[in-house]
Amino acid sequence: MVIGTDTAAEPLDAISVVTLKGVGEAMALKLASLGIHTLQDVLFHLPFRYQDRTRLSKIGELSPGSEAVISAEVMVSDIVIRQRRSLMVRLNDGTGSIMLRFFHFNQKQVKQFERGARVQCFGEVRRGPGMLEMVHPEYRVLAPDALDEAALDNTLTPFYHATEGVQQATLRKLTDQALKQLDQRLLRDFLPASVAGNLALPDLRTALHVVHRPPPGSDVNALMEGLHPAHRRLAFEELVAHRLGLRLLRVTAETQHAPKIRPPGVLAKSLRDSLAFNLTGAQDRVLLDVLNDMGSGDPMLRLVQGDVGSGKTIVAALAAAQVVECGYQVAMMAPTEILAEQHMLNFSEWFESLGIEVGWLTGKLRVAQRRATIEAVATGQKRIVIGTHALFQKDVQFQNLGLAIIDEQHRFGVHQRMALRNKGADENVLPHQLIMTATPIPRTLAMTAYADLDVSVIDELPPGRKPVTTVALENGRRGEIIERVGAAIDAGSQVYWVCTLIEESESLQAEAAEDTLVTLQELLPRHRIGLVHGRLKPREKEAIMQSFKSREIDLLVATTVIEVGVDVPNASLMIIENAERLGLSQLHQLRGRVGRGSAQSSCILLYQTPLSNNGRERLGIMRETNDGFIIAEKDLSLRGAGEVLGTRQTGLAEFRIAELGRDDDLLDDVSEIADLLLDAHPEAVQGLVRRWIGEEKKDYGGV
Ligand code: ADP
Ligand code: MG
Repeated sequence: MVIGTDTAAEPLDAISVVTLKGVGEAMALKLASLGIHTLQDVLFHLPFRYQDRTRLSKIGELSPGSEAVISAEVMVSDIVIRQRRSLMVRLNDGTGSIMLRFFHFNQKQVKQFERGARVQCFGEVRRGPGMLEMVHPEYRVLAPDALDEAALDNTLTPFYHATEGVQQATLRKLTDQALKQLDQRLLRDFLPASVAGNLALPDLRTALHVVHRPPPGSDVNALMEGLHPAHRRLAFEELVAHRLGLRLLRVTAETQHAPKIRPPGVLAKSLRDSLAFNLTGAQDRVLLDVLNDMGSGDPMLRLVQGDVGSGKTIVAALAAAQVVECGYQVAMMAPTEILAEQHMLNFSEWFESLGIEVGWLTGKLRVAQRRATIEAVATGQKRIVIGTHALFQKDVQFQNLGLAIIDEQHRFGVHQRMALRNKGADENVLPHQLIMTATPIPRTLAMTAYADLDVSVIDELPPGRKPVTTVALENGRRGEIIERVGAAIDAGSQVYWVCTLIEESESLQAEAAEDTLVTLQELLPRHRIGLVHGRLKPREKEAIMQSFKSREIDLLVATTVIEVGVDVPNASLMIIENAERLGLSQLHQLRGRVGRGSAQSSCILLYQTPLSNNGRERLGIMRETNDGFIIAEKDLSLRGAGEVLGTRQTGLAEFRIAELGRDDDLLDDVSEIADLLLDAHPEAVQGLVRRWIGEEKKDYGGV
């Protein structure tokens, strides 16, 4: 299945872009910022859009919104001065008329468009006042004897994601060259021909030619939406490679050892006895799964899934107690400072009375503090360490890490999980991994992003919880709502007021929250109102959360920093501003902050009109259900997997070409083919993982 005849040639992933014409060192750097290093990368950098300049359209058949090439004769050309001075040129091709409109033009152009001249134009067709028009089309004047079809392109025109200093034209030249090399050199087609054939997908070389230079008559919509067979061929291969990567990760884990955790359980029992509640059946069951895993001596890779408020934290703490009792350390990582703080508070309360020191490590620690903690972790003085991503940085060495707990893993990717592998006592010993998420994972994601994990589900809420009642109200009713907030506080409850902004900027969010604080203080003068946002120092945030928890604050104005994990059972009312701008899983996470105690809780979603259809649908779903699983499924279908999983940077399900949601129907075949390759084609497995997972190849156990 080697493509090309020159078998001595290097494969395309071994050839640097600097070998291409027009690529010097400076250009190579710019291309690197697009993730393009080799010829193979050039070929996997796919167009996101196409124009069709391969055929002429008849003016009479044009519709607004389309892009088209037309050839026609100039009927009238005129400079018109209304709001703006413009050159208006009316063309006719015998099937109809269209107006060209130029706001910037020179004398030469005015001349070119004299009556009777023939021009070929390319542009977007718009509805004009009297007839269709093109504004500033690209055009050329045809020679009197030229055919109307003169100078049409042979393929659709691709558009690539570009960057500063790398123009479309550059990318087209580079892909031209790379495609030529593809015909001469090696790019192995790792999928057995029978496979692609059965799926009615083209071979790799054909697929690449088609996506970069689609022949005339190609289905442009299918190409742009990634539904063209050529596109699907590439997506399929990528999904297979990703799946193989996860399988190998798992296989590697199975060849390694992990500490055998089988203590008498004295510590865990003391912790259990100190709780004010009994575990639910579901918590007990999941804890048992975890203890069984950890007792086996093989590394645990377990995902614990449980809706917000289902009580994942105590399950993690009880597992931690066992590990500590066996003499190993525990690390617990959360995606945000505030959530890490929350865990810190809980774990300190639970463990320090048992004489076990809990350490704290985030990116925001002062140097001296950080050094001291790192030291205490390395010597083993701190048996449990809680923190953010800072926990798994290179300079953090554990004395003997036995268990890594990762909370709310939707922000924590496969690649980060791999970083853990270096934190074990030695190369052959891996810490157990317990990954906890409130985001239920739809089947398609489970099959791709988490194929290497075992899953346990806490499918029961602690007793006495009542589902949160949710209403959506138009922003104009704020006054009324503020009164309701006052009344709720007077009745003994605590309230969250969540300010959201579409901007990612923490400082803008903070400002908006500060404004809201001022307004609310004016309108609710008797009540104690606090403010928490991402710009506060960790200590300040902690102090405020603590005073909200201890009821010194009635109303907490917050940004979405409180999204995950924050736990104040007495809070029973939440207002979310601009709710229409938030995604479903974010809304569900936020809403999960109330309904944690025994009181009937409510959530008010404030929205701005007009609502988009999608926004209306999201608010509707929130009103109808509290079920995280249903919400996650809807979220996936409304937004696509890339977004549901957080951002691309997380590294989780980070695909170049494939897209979950869109390519889901391929997944059954993907796992079948992955199994087949693992069984019968080990060299293809290596090749695919190297090709698609690239940099991370070392992390897949030397593949
Ligand atoms: P999540 O699964 O969302 O992380 P938490 O672990 O924060 O949930 O637990 C939510 C709240 O429920 C906490 O206040 C916790 O103490 C309490 N909780 C946990 N398990 C139980 C239980 N079995 N009975 C009563 N309350 C519980
Ligand atoms: Mg939690």
